[in-house]
Amino acid sequence: MAQNPSLDTLVSLAKRRGFIYPGSEIYGGLAGTYDYGPLGVTLKKNIENLWWRTFVEERDDMYGVDAAILMNPKAWEASGHVSGFSDPLVECANCKKRFRADHLEDPNTCPGCGKQGTLGEARQFNMMFKTQIGATEDESATVYLRPETAGGMFVNFKNVVDSFHPKLPFGLAQIGKAFRNEIAPRDFIFRVRELEQMEVEYFVRPTEWEAAFEAWRQSMHEFAKAVGLPDESVHELEVAPEDRAHYSKRTIDFEFDYPFGRKELWGLAYRTDFDLSAHQAASGQSLAYMDEETKEKLVPHVIEPSFGVGRTLLAVLVSAYREDELGGETRSYLALNPKVAPVKAMVSPLLKNKPELVAKAREVRAALQKVHPAIAWDDNGNIGKRYRRQDEIGTPFCITVDFDTLGETPEQKDTVTLRNRDTGEQERLTIEEAGKRIRDALS
Ligand code: ATP
Repeated sequence: MAQNPSLDTLVSLAKRRGFIYPGSEIYGGLAGTYDYGPLGVTLKKNIENLWWRTFVEERDDMYGVDAAILMNPKAWEASGHVSGFSDPLVECANCKKRFRADHLEDPNTCPGCGKQGTLGEARQFNMMFKTQIGATEDESATVYLRPETAGGMFVNFKNVVDSFHPKLPFGLAQIGKAFRNEIAPRDFIFRVRELEQMEVEYFVRPTEWEAAFEAWRQSMHEFAKAVGLPDESVHELEVAPEDRAHYSKRTIDFEFDYPFGRKELWGLAYRTDFDLSAHQAASGQSLAYMDEETKEKLVPHVIEPSFGVGRTLLAVLVSAYREDELGGETRSYLALNPKVAPVKAMVSPLLKNKPELVAKAREVRAALQKVHPAIAWDDNGNIGKRYRRQDEIGTPFCITVDFDTLGETPEQKDTVTLRNRDTGEQERLTIEEAGKRIRDALS
């Protein structure tokens, strides 16, 4: 039924049900920051874990790292970010607000105050946050908050090669925070100043880049499907040479149909040997790789699939949101893939004032928690309300313990009802069968 929720619908659901709150809210917020609440952090971790399992644990050619956010500033000079990581900015002479020149709908009209002809010339604005390290505040102590996680992988290329002797092609993977002083943070968690990325630097022989690029393109589509994004909402955009980042020879943007339009979800870039060569030149350390097959020394080239965690999570929420009619009432629910759903099942005693029902339901919950720990408990209000609460946060199953579970109807002893979130249908199953349903949904 009603799909494509408005952004307001999702923002309000996310806040009300404890997924995502505005950052520093009691102080009036801080633009471009959001805090993940109990359900949001679990959903986020589930997405990250699925990514890590898919791209690191299930592969033999991938190596995980977790590098420091603060890096020697020379690394960002070498990578070109100090001189080139900037957005074009225009300032309005009337309201003094600044806007991204490449995001203006009409270059003659200020999007802030609506005046015409007040926007100045575009100027480059570096998006890296600077801070000081140590007690002095002179220039020598300036460090940057990393604007992408990639840098931490390039500087560890040699370490991983020395420790593990991987054969080309192989990759490093990292999940972590990055910071960008976005001029106009907007659209909820889509464009924020403190973000999280899941990135891979995949090192190849120069002749292999096209095949690796194609393989990663496919893998990214598969991951989109696995995380719950429908094929028809994910689109590829071949980025024109003049719009590519300074290091890229080919870039595909994976775009998603967000409520505010079709926008970049993830990026896939061919970074050539730009980074390793630049770090080699600037650090004076050899980052060449000795190819055992050809006995040749070479600086590998790089394919970089880059996934924003927040943009993925928002796309997951957009894709999962549903409204339908159930039992004569309108309900909204999240049809989340059970693998990423924050709660896998909810267990409930039919009545909360019957100690024998409560005790049995506690026992059932403990048994199901052996299948997965994220089994919620709810004995508040009537059963229908409990179901709706779980529907709204995307819990795939609700399990109810009633008098038949206790043996009122002898042949139904130790059976429970299992309600399916998407259909609202209920089945009578043994506790073991209910556990198997959960296990199967997660496998
Ligand atoms: P945009 O053009 O939307 O600013 P970008 O092309 O600068 O994005 P990349 O540098 O390719 O983005 O970053 C890789 C990924 O990191 C993006 O595909 C996106 O998922 C995520 N990302 C980048 N900037 C932000 C941000 N400000 N907020 C949230 N996620 C971001």
